[in-house]
Amino acid sequence: MIYLDNASTTKPFLEVCDIVYENMKVGFGNPSSVHKIGRNSLDLILESKKIIAKKISASPSEIIFTSGATESINTAIFGTLGKLAKRGNHIITTEIEHSATLSSMHELKLRGFEIDYIKPDINGHINVMEFEKLVREDTILASIIMVSNEIGSLQNIKKLNEVFKKKTKFGFFHTDAVQGFCKIDINVSDLGIDLMSVSGHKVHGPKGIGALYIRENTNIKPLIFGGSQQSDYRAGTENVSGILGFAKAVEIYDEKCDKTHISSLNAYLKETLVGNFSKYGVQFNGSDDVKNIVNFSIPKIKSEVALRVLESHEIYVSASSACNKGKLSHIVKALGLPNHIVDSALRVSFYTENTTNDIDKLIDALKICVQMFE
Ligand code: PLP
Repeated sequence: MIYLDNASTTKPFLEVCDIVYENMKVGFGNPSSVHKIGRNSLDLILESKKIIAKKISASPSEIIFTSGATESINTAIFGTLGKLAKRGNHIITTEIEHSATLSSMHELKLRGFEIDYIKPDINGHINVMEFEKLVREDTILASIIMVSNEIGSLQNIKKLNEVFKKKTKFGFFHTDAVQGFCKIDINVSDLGIDLMSVSGHKVHGPKGIGALYIRENTNIKPLIFGGSQQSDYRAGTENVSGILGFAKAVEIYDEKCDKTHISSLNAYLKETLVGNFSKYGVQFNGSDDVKNIVNFSIPKIKSEVALRVLESHEIYVSASSACNKGKLSHIVKALGLPNHIVDSALRVSFYTENTTNDIDKLIDALKICVQMFE
């Protein structure tokens, strides 16, 4: 099996599996219980918050755990509105967000909010000046993805936040950092942003666990009401074993993942694609600023056909985000590329155990696809 779909999800590290299993077996106390077993669980959560916070240069009190980035994003967006909707109704986002953001925006439009969607340039970058023109005094929220989950383009979040803060009177800036977290250095104080969403299963942690960074004094409303867990920001008994697994993955990520190796795989894939498929018009979609994602099209082969052929060789890649279940990529489309390129877009996403041999096998299988259409 050759797994080249790590932007969809990652294989949990063994250390993560171990800590989750151990905690479920022996550390099952409810963190809200006042007795010792409960207090032990609460201590583990606090230790885990420290690990996540350290990774992004935040303080532990600025981190809440959620059921994943979808919930983090929803909390950031609806929590901001819960606080600021009386003061304005203008929101800015981009056409290249994950569906967790785009579907939230769709719902907000139905509720009467005014939403501006910025188009990226052909490389998948958001123009800072274009963004600045849209920001108004009464803009209550900007939500801009940090690294595209389909093409790997990286936005200048620091600059975007700076121009936002100059013009808005009270708005919050949120970034979906799911695909940047652990892959690039993130320092939230330096970025100056208010809210940031991350997910466990994209960094070799468990599924169903994520975190939201809420900058100190950024007063948002909770999304979920109930008990007073996590400083009243997120009710419900915490997923202690998931939290521990997530923190373990983050703690050991740098020693387990070789970023130089990922960059060389990226270069090797592009080189071999060009070497073998130039005559079929292979092209790369967007700018792969973050090297674990490469998006390309061989116009002769439709994505859905390629996926089936590759799967028959036990090679797993994707055509768009896993959350879009086979629909064509709205992100590649947003780059302004013609339909035949969008129809044939494939996303390869690496992790540290992939090898050049995996790429050679992918190339061989793609050659079979091309021959099918000759
Ligand atoms: N944002 C991005 C960029 C993603 O890639 C994903 C996962 O596909 C999400 C948000 C949603 O994350 P989760 O699966 O943790 O809800």
